Amino acid sequence: MSRLSIPGSGLAKGLAVTLRTMTKKTVTEQYPDVQPELPPRTRGVIGLFEENCTVCMLCARECPDWCIYIDSHKETIPAAAPGGRDRSRNVLDRFAIDFSLCMYCGICIEVCPFDALFWSPEFEYSETDIRDLTHERDKLREWMWTVPAPPALDPGAEEPKELAAARKTADKLAAQQESARQESAPHETTRQRAARVTEPHADEQARAAEQPTRPMGDSKQQTDQPGPTSGRSKPRTTGDEPDQEGRE
Ligand code: SF4
Ligand code: SF4
Repeated sequence: MSRLSIPGSGLAKGLAVTLRTMTKKTVTEQYPDVQPELPPRTRGVIGLFEENCTVCMLCARECPDWCIYIDSHKETIPAAAPGGRDRSRNVLDRFAIDFSLCMYCGICIEVCPFDALFWSPEFEYSETDIRDLTHERDKLREWMWTVPAPPALDPGAEEPKELAAARKTADKLAAQQESARQESAPHETTRQRAARVTEPHADEQARAAEQPTRPMGDSKQQTDQPGPTSGRSKPRTTGDEPDQEGRE
């Protein structure tokens, strides 16, 4: 049995929907004129921090799509002390990811034991040719700088051991540089060192002293005055001419 419909009820329903949505906040993104605000954990692209990569190949082995390509060679590092053993290490030659195969599962990032891979929210890397979606290490490194900083620690939380280790290494390096510098200039006192750092260079001081000082006053007046080489400047006098006071 068909329902009775009041004439014009459809129009009234439509107008009601229009009025309801008119009062709501718009959700349309004005991309590309306005960049979207993405959450920090967005899976846009994978960035590589090369310095941390030890070429252990774990990421390439665990990738379900086999879309990570790594090439490397071995390098021998001579022993640090006489009688010690030479060491060998892997040197990265190629690190590429084929983003046409990648399914953004994040397994490579999870399994990397040395924190060399990170998610970046960067997403503007579409290509017209699918072959151009294989990106090499230089590009992956560039994306590394778009990775957002990690969220702040909870109040009272223990400092991560990576940060503590990095600070210890930086302090050690600074101490080594300071001792090397003191060895090269052993008689320099702290005051001399401070003076060397703060005083401008002697050449710069001499150059500053030679600079003509500009007279104070209206800049317009300054430009109207004849310069030392203009036609209205005082003519050079010879020894035979009387000076301004009439002396011969
Ligand atoms: S995100 Fe997944 S599919 Fe993509 S490279 Fe990493 S492991 Fe492979
Ligand atoms: S798992 Fe990490 S350290 Fe090992 S090869 Fe991959 S990126 Fe490099």
